[in-house]
Order: sequence, then C-alpha cells, then structure tokens
Amino acid sequence: MTASLDVVIVGAGLGGLAAAIGTQLAGHRVTVVEQAHHLAEVGAGIQVPPNASRILAQWDLLGSFSKESTSPHAFRIRGYSTGELMCEQQLIPTAVETYGAPYCNVHRADYHNLLIDKCYSLGVRVLLNSRVVSADFNAPSITLASGETLTADLVIGADGLKSNLRSLLLGRPSPPYLTGDLAYRILISADLMRADPDLAELAAKPIINVWMGPRAHAMCYLLKGGSVYNIVLCCPDNLPADINIARAAPGELEEFFATWDPRLRKLLALSHDVSKWRLQNSREMETWVHPAGRFTLLGDACHATLPYLAQGAAMAVEDGAVIGGLLGKLESEDQLPDILAIYQALRKHRTERVVKASTRHRDIFHMEDGEVQRARDAILREGSGKAGFPIKWKDEEFRDWLFGYDAFEDVERGGQVLE
Ligand SMILES: Cc1cc2nc3c(=O)[nH]c(=O)nc-3n(C[C@H](O)[C@H](O)[C@H](O)COP(=O)(O)OP(=O)(O)OC[C@H]3O[C@@H](n4cnc5c(N)ncnc54)[C@H](O)[C@@H]3O)c2cc1C
Repeated sequence: MTASLDVVIVGAGLGGLAAAIGTQLAGHRVTVVEQAHHLAEVGAGIQVPPNASRILAQWDLLGSFSKESTSPHAFRIRGYSTGELMCEQQLIPTAVETYGAPYCNVHRADYHNLLIDKCYSLGVRVLLNSRVVSADFNAPSITLASGETLTADLVIGADGLKSNLRSLLLGRPSPPYLTGDLAYRILISADLMRADPDLAELAAKPIINVWMGPRAHAMCYLLKGGSVYNIVLCCPDNLPADINIARAAPGELEEFFATWDPRLRKLLALSHDVSKWRLQNSREMETWVHPAGRFTLLGDACHATLPYLAQGAAMAVEDGAVIGGLLGKLESEDQLPDILAIYQALRKHRTERVVKASTRHRDIFHMEDGEVQRARDAILREGSGKAGFPIKWKDEEFRDWLFGYDAFEDVERGGQVLE
C-alpha cells in the first residue's frame, strides 16, 4: 500500500469498530464518530460464530476474547411443549476442526470493550457525543449536531439499523420497518439453576438450547465462564406503536409460555425486571456505495436482519475486515471507487443470503401446531443435515458456506481484481 487516507467511520458499534481496526491496520488514519456520550453496548449475550472469531484471531484478539467467552458444545433444537430434543448440531469439535475457529458466546459489553481497546492501542481517534446530522458524499464530509464539519478521503456509515446516512444516501427517509416480533432479553444466575434438579442439566455444560413453538422461540446459553444464563425469547410484537423498548408487564411471559416446557417456565420464574425490544429491519438496498466512490455503508445500516441465525454482528464484523483489508491494497487514491465496488461485490450477496436465511428460520421455528409442523419435526428427528435441511446450522452445505467464510481470503480475491 502506498496511499494513506483519512477515513471517518460513523458509529462505534461492533461493525464500526471492526472497520476501524481493519482500516487502521491497513495503514490509514481512522476517526470514529459516535453519538453516544460514552462507549457501551446495551443488551446481554451475543453469539460469535467461527466466521467472526477467525477475524478476531487474525487481529490477535482471540486469546483475550477466549477469557471472556464460553464455548458451546452444540446447538440443541427442541419442541416447545415437552422440550423433546429434535436435532443437534455439534460445535465442539466441529467449529475448530472443520472451520478452524471456535464458536463462542460472550457478553456484548465484553466483546465491545475488546474491540475498543484494540482501536485505542492502534491509535484510532474516537469522538464521542458527536451525532452526525448531514453528509456531503462528494467531498466527502459529515457535519455533526454541534455544527462542526469533518472532511476525509473516505466516509464509512456504520450507524446501525436506524441509519441516518442510509436515508441521506437514498435521498429519502428510510426508517426501519416492523418485523412483527420482539425479543425479551434475560440474564439469570446459573448457580440458581444448578440448585434446582430440573434445571441443573441446562447449566451443567455450555449448550445452545433452542425451543421452537407457535409464533415464538427461546434461545438460551451460558455466558461468563458458565456463571450467567442468557435467555432470548422472540415473540409476537405487543408493544404500543410509538415505543420500541419497554419493561414486560407482570405475568406477561408466564401467560404466553403457559403451555411450554416446564423447565422453560421455571427459568421464567427466576427472571426479574425483564425488558423487551421491538425487532425491526431495513429493506434490501440496490447499492451501499455513493457514485462518487468515497462513501459506503456497512453492518446493520445496510443489511439489518432478524437475529434468528445469530449472524448480524458477525456480518458487520466481516464487512469491517473486508473493507479494511481492501483498503490495505490501495496504491493510489483514485482506486477508491474500485475498492468500494469490490467491497460491495464481495459482501452484498453474502449478507442478503444471511438475512433471508434468518427470516426463513423464523418460519421454521415459529410454526403453529399442525400438519406442516409435524412434517418439519419428522425431518428434524431424522436429522440428515443434507443441503436444504431446515435448521441452517445443521444444513451442511449452508453451514460450510456460513462458518467456513474467510474474510481475508475474500480480500485476496478482491485484490486480484484490482491488479
Ligand atoms: C435480540 C438480538 C440478538 C442478537 N444476537 C446476535 C448474535 O447472537 N450474533 C450476532 O452476530 N448478531 C446478533 N444480533 C445482531 C447484532 O446485534 C447487530 O447486527 C450488530 O450489533 C450491528 O452492529 P452495527 O455496528 O452494524 O450497528 P450498531 O451496533 O447499531 O451500531 C451503530 C452505532 O452507530 C451509532 N450511531 C447511530 N446513528 C449515529 C449518528 N447519526 N451519528 C453518530 N453515531 C451514530 C449508534 O449509537 C451505535 O453506536 C442480535 C440482535 C438482536 C436485536
């Protein structure tokens, strides 16, 4: 690389920070602009599949990450009423042996802190309390709510699901749309579970348990060295029109899950102060890149997804690694439009396939009782895992494509186009 650029990244979420690391490592000068007053991730657990942990390994972060994370042995997919195990996908040893990188569960704050620390150690400049209100994609520059304008050689919009930069790029408001679902996110003490003979097995070793039922599913796994149990319940959206986050009403969960596995109901009895988040989504875009070739979007800002494949942040981190890696191939500034075109060509199809597969998982997970559900269960019990298998983590063709992805190999392929 001979050209060294000033790059502004809008948004210090997992995607923006990954792009900052990749771009600064490629020899450019990165400024991350974040609207929040302090850097913190809200929420609870997050799954980090091999396609993302491979990137952390390349950036020498896997050692520290492993200290904070838990490695699940398998996915176990269960029926909702009895908890019957329908099918299982091994993760240990499959993730490392087949895909060369571990599958991990981690608290979001720990993941975020690790990326922030890496950014600071590389010399990335982070401006907090800096909300971007407008952009000139030709300059390119961004203007903050304070009135200050920052000009750069390249601007990357990593401003998430409600991306203002997406609307500016499209030239019209582009608010997220309702998916019809919401997520309750719950953390409980795993020691409390170990004290209950009915729940002890769930906390005995790291396993990702998914209960599938009519219009809802529960996804549960251990975090923080096995001391915390993370529960995500995805259910029909019952939030008022103008509210996206709220506390669950007393008895709300007990009522909805009244006919579900008694173990799940016991877990709910251990849950207090539960909040729920509306699940929204963005529409597929024709292009993420401005024609002037000095601005692109990344992460949820351009391919938000239902979280039912547990891959949204992984896609954002892959985007960051790819754009950073490609910027490492830059020899002169006038190659920027080509770099952005290659970035989009490498990333758009993959992320769209993931978004579609995540929505497909909702159809599979949330089936009403009946003939179709019985047919699904028969296929799951048989458990072939052949191409087209309904649970995408077990569909061997899809899983190889998903988990086996190497962002750095993609960068090399993209670099060849540039030569
Ligand atoms: C319930 C749930 C469970 C999930 N589980 C998983 C999982 O297990 N695995 C997985 O990989 N993914 C998961 N996801 C998806 C994942 O959380 C997102 O895909 C990921 O966090 C997106 O990262 P991002 O950096 O693109 O956006 P964000 O994390 O939304 O970051 C955007 C940042 O931009 C900032 N910003 C916004 N507007 C402006 C502005 N105008 N000026 C300056 N800054 C701005 C925001 O403050 C924020 O910090 C889950 C999502 C949900 C809802």
